[in-house]
Amino acid sequence: MPQFIALPAFQDNYIWMLLDEHTSQAAVVDPGDPVPVVRWLGRHPEYSLKTILITHHHRDHTGGLSAIKAATECKVYGPAEEDISGIDRRLKDGDEFRLFGSVVQVISVPGHTSGHIALFCNDAKDPWLLCGDTLFAGGCGRLFEGTPEQMHHSLQRLAALPDETRVFCAHEYTQANLRFARAVEPENKDIKVRLEVVDDLRAGGRITLPSTIGLEKLTNPFLRCDQPAVIAAASQHVGNRLEPGEQTLAAIRQWKDNF
Ligand code: ZN
Ligand code: FE
Repeated sequence: MPQFIALPAFQDNYIWMLLDEHTSQAAVVDPGDPVPVVRWLGRHPEYSLKTILITHHHRDHTGGLSAIKAATECKVYGPAEEDISGIDRRLKDGDEFRLFGSVVQVISVPGHTSGHIALFCNDAKDPWLLCGDTLFAGGCGRLFEGTPEQMHHSLQRLAALPDETRVFCAHEYTQANLRFARAVEPENKDIKVRLEVVDDLRAGGRITLPSTIGLEKLTNPFLRCDQPAVIAAASQHVGNRLEPGEQTLAAIRQWKDNF
């Protein structure tokens, strides 16, 4: 299993580095800024960067791609359906590729952008997921290009992964997300406890990731659009009786946009 480290970038991005200590190979995910990546590689000459993984086309996830590619000998994997220059292997839903000897599966997750992909490794002992700006700890990405229906379907696919799957999101949004989650479900004890833990971590300037699919299912309102409490809160917010699923997701996504 690779070791994961988070390189902070910009205001609240994390650039995940995956390290395979057996082969001294590294991979980097969504490098919006080349500087922290090149600096890290300079400090760890034992590692060579072999792979760049891209989840979607936004600048804060792709801005460092060409500079890192020029400075290393790596191959770039990214979504087939987005316009990103420098991609060597264009990935579609259902594609698989090998990373450090493990199989990585490509899951199409439109919503935040229309060609967004997530990458899932179904390792029996330690499954993991790279989900970019689709699933956040306690929240989900804004709907810039996709519909609530698409986002709901994408999130349902991620929710179907094993509960123990570690979830590596691309931003530190957990605290604000859980404050919103608490407003949606004031009676949810799991949200309350998680927010206390996250408040402590943030007070110490520490990272709140990775999450797990199991924890998200308990505390993330966007994965709970079939729960009576979430449907009721969303319905009350819009003043209309909403159906479970995508209608409820659409309402809480709009509520969160103005929260
Ligand atoms: Zn984005
Ligand atoms: Fe982003």
